[in-house]
Amino acid sequence: MGNGIVAKFGGSSVKDAQAMRRCAEVVKSFPDTRIVIISATYNTTNMLERLAQTAKNDGEEVSLKVLQEIRERHQSIASEISISPETQKDLDAVFFEAQNLILGVAKLKECSPRIMDQIYSLGERMSSCLFADLLNKVLGGHKRVVFFDVRRVLKTSSDWSRALPLMDLTKSAAEEHLFPELADERTVIVTQGFVGATVKGETTTLGREGSDFSAALMAEVIKAEVLQIWTDVPGVATTDPRLVPEAKIIPELTYEEASAMAHLGAKVLFSKTLLPVMRENIPVFVGSSLEPKKGGSWIRSSVDSVPYLRALAVMKKQTLVTVESNEVLPQALFSKNIYDIIAQHKIPTDFLSFRGSHVNFLVPEQKFLNEEVVASLSEFARVKIEEDLSLISLIGNDMDVASNKIFDIFDAITKGRPALRMVQLGVSANSMSLLVPDSTTELVARELHNALLLSL
Ligand code: ADP
Ligand code: ASP
Ligand code: MG
Repeated sequence: MGNGIVAKFGGSSVKDAQAMRRCAEVVKSFPDTRIVIISATYNTTNMLERLAQTAKNDGEEVSLKVLQEIRERHQSIASEISISPETQKDLDAVFFEAQNLILGVAKLKECSPRIMDQIYSLGERMSSCLFADLLNKVLGGHKRVVFFDVRRVLKTSSDWSRALPLMDLTKSAAEEHLFPELADERTVIVTQGFVGATVKGETTTLGREGSDFSAALMAEVIKAEVLQIWTDVPGVATTDPRLVPEAKIIPELTYEEASAMAHLGAKVLFSKTLLPVMRENIPVFVGSSLEPKKGGSWIRSSVDSVPYLRALAVMKKQTLVTVESNEVLPQALFSKNIYDIIAQHKIPTDFLSFRGSHVNFLVPEQKFLNEEVVASLSEFARVKIEEDLSLISLIGNDMDVASNKIFDIFDAITKGRPALRMVQLGVSANSMSLLVPDSTTELVARELHNALLLSL
């Protein structure tokens, strides 16, 4: 360790020129910053999705209007920060690429996942190019700011829109392309989150919200001293403050706790973010770019106190699938049949129970369960689908060990007599979950949070 800081700024942190300026000041206040990872400006990735959809469904004219909206938004930041002619050239090249991609999609009336990833990448490529220009001005010649295309180093599988990093290739590409840049201690690299490339050089993306993961991967690659995640909340809270206003910031938590939170729906960190930093034991700081002096949360391998209950996380819009064998199949074959179908269709799945000829799993929204999937499962089983559920999870420690504290949890859960669909307890050391209808989520989450987590 000892190789400086990797700092990531999310979409709302770089939403306009003023916000970008705040982020540049944050970087300035940490002279050890070596790599800055930038997300697309707020909502741009959604707009790029809309752009691809309109090109496919409504044709050239309408989609070029959407592109114009995206362009104006970035061009207005460019004018406010008075970018250099070189940066304008870089930006124009991205606009030009965007236009060609859109015209292609409009002509073919089709947008393949491969093309979609190229379209997705435009957002981060525009925002990072603007930020590099601004940072160069703010650091006023004391540092050498290098605008870097992350696709040169972040090598991934070709699983479009959810590509997986190939770490050996990424590390050797970093040795070749990134380390020589960093050899000059005054260098600060500004690059894109979310984006990667296959070995053939085709553009990929790591999954929506994946810039946190990019930042963690880059921190691992340079064996950074600290990973900073700058967002719009001053740290990781006991639950989403938008859902429960009473939520409190957690000053320090363990990798395992933060990882469970991220996997179980705490949007503040992308689900896979902690894995790369855990491999190198790099502490993570989460803070607000709006109030950088307010402090934040530290996520580390060990912390002073590891309470039984730490936080609550929510995943809305879940679909529960119950598959019940209608043949006398050996258990192993029944399980294999289900796994094969899930793997073949790459369905993101959270298995809740596997008992005899009866399996329950959750998928985020019904869109992953097309007719083909249901037909395949129905060949050997009865399939029941229940939509619009929320998985509410309590996150903590030693939750798989018998403890009287469980009764407090039961008391809190049953108090409001929620329409409980399922309770899962004791299967993991770091979490327990309950499934309730989406319509009751806010109420149940708030009651549970305030009964169990406010006094911590
Ligand atoms: P960014 O664009 O910086 O990646 P996100 O919107 O992805 O930001 O994540 C920040 C948001 O995460 C917060 O505004 C908050 O509503 C939400 N959030 C969910 N759970 C938590 C939590 N436990 N602590 C803090 N924020 C949370
Ligand atoms: N811009 C991407 C998204 O909105 C990635 C990220 O911001 O983390 O999903
Ligand atoms: Mg995010």
